[in-house]
Amino acid sequence: MKAAVIRDSVDGYVDIKDVTLRPITHGEALVKMEYCGLCHTDLHVAAGDFGKQPGRIIGHEGVGKVIQVADDVKNLKIGDRVSIAWFFKGCGHCEYCLTGRETLCRNVLNSGFTVDGAMAEECIVDANYAVKVPDGLDPVEATSLTCAGVTMYKALKVGETKPGQWVEVVGAGGLGNLAVQYAHNVFGAHVVAVDGNPDKLEAAKENGAEVLINRHDGDVAEQIQKKVGGVNNAQVTAVTAEAFTQSVNALRPDGKLVAVALPQGNMELNIAKTVLDGISVQGSLVGTRQDLAETFQFGAEGKVHPIVKTRRLDEVNDIIDEMKANKIVGRMVVDFTK
Ligand SMILES: [Zn+2]
Ligand SMILES: [Zn+2]
Repeated sequence: MKAAVIRDSVDGYVDIKDVTLRPITHGEALVKMEYCGLCHTDLHVAAGDFGKQPGRIIGHEGVGKVIQVADDVKNLKIGDRVSIAWFFKGCGHCEYCLTGRETLCRNVLNSGFTVDGAMAEECIVDANYAVKVPDGLDPVEATSLTCAGVTMYKALKVGETKPGQWVEVVGAGGLGNLAVQYAHNVFGAHVVAVDGNPDKLEAAKENGAEVLINRHDGDVAEQIQKKVGGVNNAQVTAVTAEAFTQSVNALRPDGKLVAVALPQGNMELNIAKTVLDGISVQGSLVGTRQDLAETFQFGAEGKVHPIVKTRRLDEVNDIIDEMKANKIVGRMVVDFTK
Protein backbone atom coordinates (compact mmCIF):
# COMPACT_ATOMS: atom_id res chain seq x y z
CA MET A 1 0.00 0.00 0.00
CA LYS A 2 1.13 3.57 -0.69
CA ALA A 3 2.19 5.88 2.13
CA ALA A 4 3.82 9.30 2.66
CA VAL A 5 7.05 8.53 4.49
CA ILE A 6 9.56 10.91 6.12
CA ARG A 7 12.81 10.95 4.15
CA ASP A 8 16.07 9.58 5.56
CA SER A 9 17.48 13.10 5.28
CA VAL A 10 14.52 14.46 7.36
CA ASP A 11 14.47 17.52 5.09
CA GLY A 12 10.85 18.54 5.61
CA TYR A 13 9.46 16.54 2.70
CA VAL A 14 8.11 13.00 2.26
CA ASP A 15 8.50 10.21 -0.28
CA ILE A 16 5.49 8.29 -1.55
CA LYS A 17 6.51 4.66 -1.03
CA ASP A 18 5.07 1.17 -1.13
CA VAL A 19 4.92 0.04 2.49
CA THR A 20 3.78 -3.26 4.03
CA LEU A 21 2.27 -2.81 7.49
CA ARG A 22 2.83 -5.47 10.15
CA PRO A 23 -0.15 -7.74 10.95
CA ILE A 24 -2.57 -6.33 13.54
CA THR A 25 -2.37 -7.69 17.08
CA HIS A 26 -4.58 -7.74 20.23
CA GLY A 27 -6.81 -4.71 20.60
CA GLU A 28 -6.06 -3.35 17.16
CA ALA A 29 -7.95 -2.68 13.94
CA LEU A 30 -6.87 -2.02 10.37
CA VAL A 31 -8.36 1.06 8.70
CA LYS A 32 -8.60 1.67 4.97
CA MET A 33 -8.10 5.38 4.66
CA GLU A 34 -10.63 7.56 2.86
CA TYR A 35 -9.22 11.02 3.55
CA CYS A 36 -6.33 12.59 5.47
CA GLY A 37 -5.64 16.31 5.97
CA LEU A 38 -2.16 17.76 5.95
CA CYS A 39 -1.39 19.93 8.99
CA HIS A 40 1.45 22.29 9.96
CA THR A 41 2.34 19.77 12.67
CA ASP A 42 3.12 17.26 9.88
CA LEU A 43 5.53 19.80 8.39
CA HIS A 44 7.30 20.12 11.75
CA VAL A 45 7.50 16.34 12.08
CA ALA A 46 8.84 15.88 8.51
CA ALA A 47 11.52 18.49 9.26
CA GLY A 48 12.55 16.77 12.52
CA ASP A 49 11.56 19.75 14.69
CA PHE A 50 10.22 17.46 17.45
CA GLY A 51 12.95 14.81 16.95
CA LYS A 52 13.99 12.91 13.83
CA GLN A 53 11.76 10.04 12.67
CA PRO A 54 13.04 8.93 9.26
CA GLY A 55 10.84 6.26 7.67
CA ARG A 56 7.76 7.20 9.68
CA ILE A 57 4.40 7.50 7.88
CA ILE A 58 3.06 11.01 8.60
CA GLY A 59 -0.57 12.06 9.08
CA HIS A 60 -2.93 12.64 12.01
CA GLU A 61 -6.10 13.99 10.39
CA GLY A 62 -7.25 10.67 8.99
CA VAL A 63 -10.72 9.25 8.40
CA GLY A 64 -11.36 5.79 7.02
CA LYS A 65 -13.28 2.56 7.38
CA VAL A 66 -12.38 -0.47 9.47
CA ILE A 67 -11.52 -3.47 7.26
CA GLN A 68 -10.13 -5.86 9.88
CA VAL A 69 -10.35 -6.24 13.68
CA ALA A 70 -8.43 -8.42 16.14
CA ASP A 71 -10.44 -11.24 17.79
CA ASP A 72 -10.67 -9.47 21.15
CA VAL A 73 -11.98 -6.15 19.78
CA LYS A 74 -15.60 -5.58 20.80
CA ASN A 75 -16.18 -1.85 20.23
CA LEU A 76 -15.40 -1.70 16.49
CA LYS A 77 -16.65 -3.76 13.60
CA ILE A 78 -15.80 -3.99 9.91
CA GLY A 79 -17.32 -1.05 8.04
CA ASP A 80 -17.23 1.43 10.96
CA ARG A 81 -15.89 4.85 10.01
CA VAL A 82 -13.21 6.00 12.47
CA SER A 83 -10.69 8.82 12.86
CA ILE A 84 -6.95 8.89 13.42
CA ALA A 85 -6.00 11.94 15.50
CA TRP A 86 -2.68 13.33 16.82
CA PHE A 87 -3.57 11.80 20.22
CA PHE A 88 -3.12 8.17 19.10
CA LYS A 89 -3.22 6.61 22.58
CA GLY A 90 -2.26 7.17 26.21
CA CYS A 91 -0.81 4.64 28.64
CA GLY A 92 -4.30 4.09 30.10
CA HIS A 93 -3.26 3.92 33.75
CA CYS A 94 -1.45 7.09 34.84
CA GLU A 95 -2.91 9.97 36.87
CA TYR A 96 -3.85 11.86 33.68
CA CYS A 97 -5.29 8.92 31.77
CA LEU A 98 -7.47 8.02 34.75
CA THR A 99 -8.85 11.50 35.37
CA GLY A 100 -10.05 12.75 31.97
CA ARG A 101 -6.80 14.48 31.08
CA GLU A 102 -5.37 11.78 28.85
CA THR A 103 -3.73 14.15 26.35
CA LEU A 104 -1.27 15.09 29.13
CA CYS A 105 -0.14 11.46 29.58
CA ARG A 106 3.66 11.35 29.68
CA ASN A 107 3.70 8.11 27.68
CA VAL A 108 1.40 9.32 24.94
CA LEU A 109 1.78 8.06 21.37
CA ASN A 110 1.17 10.51 18.52
CA SER A 111 -0.02 9.48 15.05
CA GLY A 112 2.43 10.20 12.28
CA PHE A 113 5.20 10.96 14.78
CA THR A 114 5.82 8.21 17.35
CA VAL A 115 3.60 5.68 15.52
CA ASP A 116 2.85 5.32 11.80
CA GLY A 117 0.12 7.75 10.81
CA ALA A 118 -2.80 8.19 8.46
CA MET A 119 -1.26 9.66 5.29
CA ALA A 120 -1.41 6.19 3.76
CA GLU A 121 -3.86 3.83 2.13
CA GLU A 122 -4.03 1.83 5.37
CA CYS A 123 -3.35 2.50 9.05
CA ILE A 124 -3.29 0.34 12.19
CA VAL A 125 -5.22 1.80 15.15
CA ASP A 126 -5.79 0.88 18.78
CA ALA A 127 -9.50 0.07 18.82
CA ASN A 128 -9.97 1.70 22.23
CA TYR A 129 -8.65 5.01 20.95
CA ALA A 130 -10.04 5.26 17.41
CA VAL A 131 -13.02 7.62 17.79
CA LYS A 132 -15.97 6.82 15.54
CA VAL A 133 -17.11 9.38 12.96
CA PRO A 134 -20.91 9.73 13.15
CA ASP A 135 -23.18 9.22 10.14
CA GLY A 136 -24.21 12.56 8.71
CA LEU A 137 -20.75 14.12 9.10
CA ASP A 138 -19.00 14.65 5.78
CA PRO A 139 -15.80 12.54 6.02
CA VAL A 140 -13.73 15.24 4.28
CA GLU A 141 -14.84 17.83 6.85
CA ALA A 142 -14.30 15.28 9.62
CA THR A 143 -10.55 15.26 8.91
CA SER A 144 -10.23 18.89 10.02
CA LEU A 145 -12.46 18.38 13.05
CA THR A 146 -10.07 15.58 14.10
CA CYS A 147 -7.34 18.20 14.65
CA ALA A 148 -8.25 21.92 14.48
CA GLY A 149 -11.89 21.29 15.41
CA VAL A 150 -11.29 19.33 18.60
CA THR A 151 -8.41 21.62 19.57
CA MET A 152 -10.65 24.69 19.56
CA TYR A 153 -13.71 22.95 21.00
CA LYS A 154 -11.55 21.81 23.94
CA ALA A 155 -9.89 25.23 24.29
CA LEU A 156 -13.30 26.90 24.54
CA LYS A 157 -14.17 24.44 27.32
CA VAL A 158 -10.88 25.27 29.06
CA GLY A 159 -11.88 28.96 28.81
CA GLU A 160 -15.18 28.04 30.55
CA THR A 161 -17.08 29.73 27.72
CA LYS A 162 -20.71 30.39 28.61
CA PRO A 163 -23.70 31.56 26.54
CA GLY A 164 -23.83 35.31 26.11
CA GLN A 165 -20.18 35.88 27.04
CA TRP A 166 -17.61 37.58 24.84
CA VAL A 167 -14.79 35.49 23.38
CA GLU A 168 -11.77 36.94 21.61
CA VAL A 169 -10.41 34.74 18.81
CA VAL A 170 -6.88 35.90 18.08
CA GLY A 171 -5.77 34.80 14.63
CA ALA A 172 -8.50 33.90 12.10
CA GLY A 173 -6.67 31.12 10.24
CA GLY A 174 -7.47 27.39 10.26
CA LEU A 175 -7.77 27.14 14.06
CA GLY A 176 -9.31 30.58 14.49
CA ASN A 177 -11.97 30.00 11.87
CA LEU A 178 -13.20 26.90 13.70
CA ALA A 179 -12.90 28.71 17.04
CA VAL A 180 -15.31 31.37 15.78
CA GLN A 181 -17.80 28.74 14.62
CA TYR A 182 -17.70 26.66 17.83
CA ALA A 183 -17.80 29.77 20.06
CA HIS A 184 -20.77 31.28 18.24
CA ASN A 185 -22.76 28.26 17.04
CA VAL A 186 -22.12 25.73 19.83
CA PHE A 187 -21.29 27.72 22.99
CA GLY A 188 -23.68 30.60 22.17
CA ALA A 189 -21.01 33.23 22.82
CA HIS A 190 -20.34 36.58 21.11
CA VAL A 191 -17.07 36.74 19.20
CA VAL A 192 -14.41 39.38 18.60
CA ALA A 193 -12.08 38.21 15.81
CA VAL A 194 -8.59 39.70 15.50
CA ASP A 195 -6.32 39.27 12.49
CA GLY A 196 -4.10 41.31 10.17
CA ASN A 197 -5.64 39.91 6.99
CA PRO A 198 -8.96 41.54 5.85
CA ASP A 199 -10.01 38.41 3.91
CA LYS A 200 -9.67 36.23 6.99
CA LEU A 201 -11.64 38.79 9.04
CA GLU A 202 -14.38 38.76 6.41
CA ALA A 203 -14.52 34.94 6.66
CA ALA A 204 -14.74 35.25 10.46
CA LYS A 205 -17.67 37.64 10.06
CA GLU A 206 -19.49 35.17 7.79
CA ASN A 207 -18.96 32.51 10.45
CA GLY A 208 -20.56 34.61 13.17
CA ALA A 209 -17.95 37.02 14.59
CA GLU A 210 -19.76 40.23 15.59
CA VAL A 211 -16.72 42.49 16.13
CA LEU A 212 -13.75 42.46 13.75
CA ILE A 213 -10.43 44.07 14.59
CA ASN A 214 -7.52 44.45 12.20
CA ARG A 215 -4.41 44.33 14.38
CA HIS A 216 -2.76 46.94 12.14
CA ASP A 217 -5.39 49.53 13.23
CA GLY A 218 -3.91 50.56 16.59
CA ASP A 219 -3.96 48.98 20.06
CA VAL A 220 -6.10 45.82 19.89
CA ALA A 221 -6.71 45.50 23.64
CA GLU A 222 -7.76 49.14 23.93
CA GLN A 223 -10.25 48.75 21.09
CA ILE A 224 -11.73 45.61 22.66
CA GLN A 225 -12.04 47.29 26.07
CA LYS A 226 -13.78 50.26 24.45
CA LYS A 227 -16.13 48.27 22.19
CA VAL A 228 -17.29 45.41 24.45
CA GLY A 229 -15.79 46.14 27.87
CA GLY A 230 -13.19 43.40 27.54
CA VAL A 231 -13.70 39.69 26.86
CA ASN A 232 -14.44 36.80 29.22
CA ASN A 233 -11.88 34.62 27.51
CA ALA A 234 -9.29 34.97 24.78
CA GLN A 235 -8.40 32.06 22.49
CA VAL A 236 -4.91 32.75 21.19
CA THR A 237 -4.21 30.91 17.93
CA ALA A 238 -1.79 33.49 16.47
CA VAL A 239 1.84 32.41 16.35
CA THR A 240 3.43 35.54 17.88
CA ALA A 241 4.34 36.23 21.50
CA GLU A 242 2.92 39.79 21.19
CA ALA A 243 -0.54 38.33 20.49
CA PHE A 244 -0.44 36.66 23.90
CA THR A 245 0.61 39.82 25.72
CA GLN A 246 -2.06 41.92 24.00
CA SER A 247 -4.74 39.36 24.73
CA VAL A 248 -4.16 39.52 28.49
CA ASN A 249 -4.95 43.22 28.33
CA ALA A 250 -8.15 42.57 26.38
CA LEU A 251 -9.61 40.45 29.23
CA ARG A 252 -12.26 41.69 31.63
CA PRO A 253 -12.02 40.87 35.37
CA ASP A 254 -12.04 37.08 36.04
CA GLY A 255 -11.00 36.69 32.39
CA LYS A 256 -9.17 33.64 31.06
CA LEU A 257 -6.45 33.52 28.46
CA VAL A 258 -6.28 30.17 26.69
CA ALA A 259 -2.95 29.54 24.97
CA VAL A 260 -3.31 27.36 21.86
CA ALA A 261 -0.65 28.54 19.38
CA LEU A 262 3.00 27.66 19.98
CA PRO A 263 5.29 30.61 19.22
CA GLN A 264 8.83 30.52 20.62
CA GLY A 265 9.65 32.65 23.66
CA ASN A 266 7.80 34.18 26.60
CA MET A 267 4.63 36.19 27.06
CA GLU A 268 4.40 39.21 29.32
CA LEU A 269 1.92 39.07 32.17
CA ASN A 270 1.28 42.27 34.12
CA ILE A 271 1.31 41.25 37.78
CA ALA A 272 -1.04 43.98 39.01
CA LYS A 273 -3.64 43.16 36.35
CA THR A 274 -3.30 39.42 37.03
CA VAL A 275 -3.84 39.86 40.78
CA LEU A 276 -6.35 42.69 40.87
CA ASP A 277 -8.46 41.36 37.97
CA GLY A 278 -8.17 37.67 38.95
CA ILE A 279 -6.77 36.72 35.54
CA SER A 280 -6.13 33.05 34.62
CA VAL A 281 -3.75 31.80 31.95
CA GLN A 282 -3.99 28.22 30.78
CA GLY A 283 -2.56 26.15 27.96
CA SER A 284 -4.77 23.74 26.01
CA LEU A 285 -3.56 20.82 23.92
CA VAL A 286 -5.82 18.99 21.42
CA GLY A 287 -8.64 17.06 23.16
CA THR A 288 -9.62 13.72 24.67
CA ARG A 289 -11.57 10.98 22.91
CA GLN A 290 -14.74 12.30 24.53
CA ASP A 291 -13.96 15.86 23.37
CA LEU A 292 -13.47 14.52 19.83
CA ALA A 293 -16.76 12.59 19.88
CA GLU A 294 -18.57 15.79 20.95
CA THR A 295 -16.69 17.83 18.32
CA PHE A 296 -17.81 15.39 15.61
CA GLN A 297 -21.42 15.40 16.82
CA PHE A 298 -21.71 19.18 16.45
CA GLY A 299 -20.22 18.83 12.97
CA ALA A 300 -22.78 16.15 12.10
CA GLU A 301 -25.51 18.56 13.25
CA GLY A 302 -24.23 21.11 10.70
CA LYS A 303 -23.13 23.67 13.32
CA VAL A 304 -19.54 23.90 12.01
CA HIS A 305 -18.01 23.62 8.56
CA PRO A 306 -14.24 23.63 8.11
CA ILE A 307 -12.87 24.90 4.79
CA VAL A 308 -11.48 21.83 2.97
CA LYS A 309 -10.28 20.92 -0.51
CA THR A 310 -9.28 17.46 -1.75
CA ARG A 311 -5.99 16.60 -3.49
CA ARG A 312 -4.05 13.50 -4.56
CA LEU A 313 -1.44 11.65 -2.49
CA ASP A 314 1.30 12.35 -5.06
CA GLU A 315 0.74 16.09 -4.51
CA VAL A 316 1.78 16.05 -0.83
CA ASN A 317 5.16 17.73 -1.39
CA ASP A 318 3.47 20.41 -3.53
CA ILE A 319 1.00 21.01 -0.70
CA ILE A 320 3.92 21.29 1.74
CA ASP A 321 5.44 24.03 -0.46
CA GLU A 322 2.08 25.82 -0.72
CA MET A 323 1.69 25.71 3.07
CA LYS A 324 5.21 27.04 3.61
CA ALA A 325 4.44 29.89 1.21
CA ASN A 326 1.21 30.60 3.17
CA LYS A 327 -0.83 30.23 -0.03
CA ILE A 328 -3.59 28.02 1.36
CA VAL A 329 -6.92 29.10 2.83
CA GLY A 330 -8.43 26.21 4.79
CA ARG A 331 -7.14 22.66 4.71
CA MET A 332 -5.83 20.45 1.91
CA VAL A 333 -7.08 16.88 2.30
CA VAL A 334 -5.66 13.89 0.44
CA ASP A 335 -8.38 11.76 -1.16
CA PHE A 336 -7.65 8.02 -1.01
CA THR A 337 -11.02 7.00 -2.44
CA LYS A 338 -10.07 7.39 -6.10
ZN1 LIG B 1 -3.12 18.60 12.74
ZN1 LIG C 1 -1.20 7.84 30.79
